[in-house]
Amino acid sequence: MDFGHTEQQKMIRESVRKYAEAELLPHYQRWDRTGEFLPQDYIDKLVATGLLTLRLPAEYGGQAASFVDCGVVCEEIGRCDHQIRYIVSNAIHLGEMAHAMDPALREEWIPRIAKGEMMSLAFTEPGGGADAGNIRTRAVKDGGDYVLNGEKTSITFCGVSKVVFVSARTGGPGPRGLSFFCVPTDTPGLTATNFERMGQRLDRAGSFFFDDVRIPARNMIGEENRGFIWAMTIIGYNRCFVPLACLGAAQKSLEETIEYVKTRTVFGKPVSKWQAVATELANASTQIEAARMLCYRGLWMKDQGLRHDDESSMAKWWGVKVANEVLYTCMRLNGHYGWAKDLPHEQRLRDCLGMESADGPREVHQGIIARGLLGKEFAPF
Ligand SMILES: Cc1cc2nc3c(=O)[nH]c(=O)nc-3n(C[C@H](O)[C@H](O)[C@H](O)COP(=O)(O)OP(=O)(O)OC[C@H]3O[C@@H](n4cnc5c(N)ncnc54)[C@H](O)[C@@H]3O)c2cc1C
Repeated sequence: MDFGHTEQQKMIRESVRKYAEAELLPHYQRWDRTGEFLPQDYIDKLVATGLLTLRLPAEYGGQAASFVDCGVVCEEIGRCDHQIRYIVSNAIHLGEMAHAMDPALREEWIPRIAKGEMMSLAFTEPGGGADAGNIRTRAVKDGGDYVLNGEKTSITFCGVSKVVFVSARTGGPGPRGLSFFCVPTDTPGLTATNFERMGQRLDRAGSFFFDDVRIPARNMIGEENRGFIWAMTIIGYNRCFVPLACLGAAQKSLEETIEYVKTRTVFGKPVSKWQAVATELANASTQIEAARMLCYRGLWMKDQGLRHDDESSMAKWWGVKVANEVLYTCMRLNGHYGWAKDLPHEQRLRDCLGMESADGPREVHQGIIARGLLGKEFAPF
């Protein structure tokens, strides 16, 4: 067994950390406070790093990064601005979808996303998101087009994205009746509204309304009635990216908290000299390390072409839980400063709490793991 990262992965970590500390961290709280969206020069710097072309096809500047490489990037971005991770992972998803896209569609959208235009992925509906195979949005074939009707909600980058990749029913009930479509957001009949979430203000939560939205049939990604299963399979690795970004944020708070408890004095000695505090720090570090291992194992399996459903589900529910618990511990150990908006701990916790739901709540992932343990016949679903 080899638990180490390669020399190349260590270099990726170092260079992404340098960029993120210099360019992302100083602005992290700004987006939350002001509600601004990213200015163009900020996006240009992100594009210049090459982090949006990690897994694009070679003809679009793709770098053939492994999934473990991408995990390192997500963790490092998450350390400094958890919200920016979405932009990086969306570009990775596009790379995975590319081979199933019509050439004209690929030619139009891949360069645009690689240059920093936003995209959305839309599965969740007002009637529910966890049961993503049971949605109501419909796409009906009409000559050479599909016509979409329905509503998607809780979608990231709603209102700022130029294109939305959306699941819609084209066949019978359940996930085997669903397809996946690429819809430019300026298509007539498509409208968007936003709502506030407690965290991730930058990521612009909102709803898309599809009202007789007509798109060419070639905008379907993958095969009819197979697109959704395919989409779920290819982006299974995201269940490792999400916790890695949260663990990156938790690690950063832990490091800052370690510095704080060494300098703050209570009852005549540094906070760190109290055994209960030192134990909490040791536990937090242990839990982060164990959760990281789960994430990298899932990504390593993906790189080896192995099935990794159970491993990714373990990484997702447990990694996010650990990150949130560590962030809460850090807030406590910082005393009243931990609750103040001057420090980033409370924002990190607000941002990462939402990741309990995003990409499926823990109960769904526990159900997937239980199915592996019990077999389909005896499992809850
Ligand atoms: C920050 C954030 C970003 C998001 N971004 C996107 C996005 O870009 N695109 C997108 O499509 N969606 C997005 N979502 C939505 C997310 O995918 C859904 O929240 C998630 O799939 C759960 O759906 P739901 O919230 O409708 O909960 P529901 O499906 O209504 O479930 C509610 C609760 O019921 C419980 N539950 C559900 N299923 C089971 C089960 N099988 N067993 C036991 N208990 C269960 C869980 O506690 C769950 O939280 C985002 C959400 C958040 C918070």
